[in-house]
Amino acid sequence: MRIAINGTGVAGPTLAYWLRHYGHEPMLFEKAPKLRTGGYVVDFWGVGYDIAEKMGLLPRLHELGYSMEELRMVDADGEPKARMKGDTFRALTDGRYVSIARGDLAATIFDACDGIEARFGRSIVGLRQHDAGVRAAIDDGTHEDFDLVVGADGLHSHVRELTFGPESDFEHFLGFQVAVFIAPGYPRRDELVFVSHTIPGRHLARISLHGDETAFLFIWRSERNPEGGAFPETDDDKRRLLRHVFADMGWEAPDALALLDGAENIYLDRVSQIRMDHWTKGRVALVGDAAACASLLAGEGSGLGMTEAYVLAGELAAGDHERAFAAYEQRMQPFVVGKQQAAMRFAGFFAPATKRAIWMRDLGVRMASVPWLARMLMGSSLRDEIELPTYDTPEPKAGEAAHPAPTLWA
Ligand SMILES: Cc1cc2nc3c(=O)[nH]c(=O)nc-3n(C[C@H](O)[C@H](O)[C@H](O)COP(=O)(O)OP(=O)(O)OC[C@H]3O[C@@H](n4cnc5c(N)ncnc54)[C@H](O)[C@@H]3O)c2cc1C
Repeated sequence: MRIAINGTGVAGPTLAYWLRHYGHEPMLFEKAPKLRTGGYVVDFWGVGYDIAEKMGLLPRLHELGYSMEELRMVDADGEPKARMKGDTFRALTDGRYVSIARGDLAATIFDACDGIEARFGRSIVGLRQHDAGVRAAIDDGTHEDFDLVVGADGLHSHVRELTFGPESDFEHFLGFQVAVFIAPGYPRRDELVFVSHTIPGRHLARISLHGDETAFLFIWRSERNPEGGAFPETDDDKRRLLRHVFADMGWEAPDALALLDGAENIYLDRVSQIRMDHWTKGRVALVGDAAACASLLAGEGSGLGMTEAYVLAGELAAGDHERAFAAYEQRMQPFVVGKQQAAMRFAGFFAPATKRAIWMRDLGVRMASVPWLARMLMGSSLRDEIELPTYDTPEPKAGEAAHPAPTLWA
């Protein structure tokens, strides 16, 4: 089948890779003019890691990534208040864990798609489904016919909007905003340490990256649209908002904010989940954050997106998209919704609302330095209760009825 994938992030190229593996003809669209490397650092483990292994990507991911040694909570003077060793996390994941810039993860997956057509600076802007396929309108004014179209275009998916309706029907704002920017030349460096300072409702962390770059991560409690008006879209608006919220935070906030002027591509967004009862409609499907963003609080969004892509492609191996779409939802939705619900339990981790809650959070981090306590506190949330199916010898499941998944978010 000829299958268009809108979005060349993490889930999109994973889907393209596996679709081609099963003999389909995927085509990628990406609105950005080129693939971006770098960006914020994501922790990568679990079932997504297993899929990366199946794709032969692990050596490259470990080469580009970071083997983090410490999570360190510091006070306003930079003195450590709580620490957790990276070894604790590695032990809980049997060493199958790497931290890597999101862009580097996406680029590594994309590199494995060599030979698959990818159109950068291009986006699907209209969809018309008919009995035999989908006619997609491309933003260069052309139209193309596909058997299926998949939205892998992230939290603010346009394919989702075109097919299922407005984002507001599916977005569940979790009460936080997040911003990340990367700047060269920050003088304080703590290699392989996530250094973090929290005051009630506000969190700032930095990670020293390869070369002389530093990533700054801001998380704060807020209304959906912080100043009542439009959500900040331009870098200038984002700078203004960050200065407004963090100027009096203390610790290294003034120094970090001073670097904002030179920073480009500032990432600033709401912390939200996407909750949908169905990820497919007719000949259109969603994967990754477009379908079921669990938010950065889940800490496993990349792996979940890759897993959805792997399963969707695998189910499509036998053709028959109606059966495949139903099987995809049935297999993946309970697992992913469980992850979304687990993420809610960690919602306050980065930016607790009160001093007492920060104290409790730091106590939890200290306790997690003890291996058996770590296993008790975090073990179950790091385990992925899903068995990855193998699709290498797909059998058309004749007679198996496609029936809709149950309502998951009542
Ligand atoms: C600060 C932060 C920290 C995070 N930490 C972690 C972590 O530790 N571990 C983890 O696993 N995950 C983490 N995540 C989540 C993770 O980044 C996402 O879950 C993951 O990137 C989702 O992959 P995706 O391919 O679905 O979407 P994305 O990676 O967002 O990719 C979507 C792609 O679609 C493109 N696109 C968007 N709109 C269009 C359009 N209209 N037309 C064409 N292309 C379009 C975008 O340019 C992008 O390339 C974090 C997220 C944030 C914000």
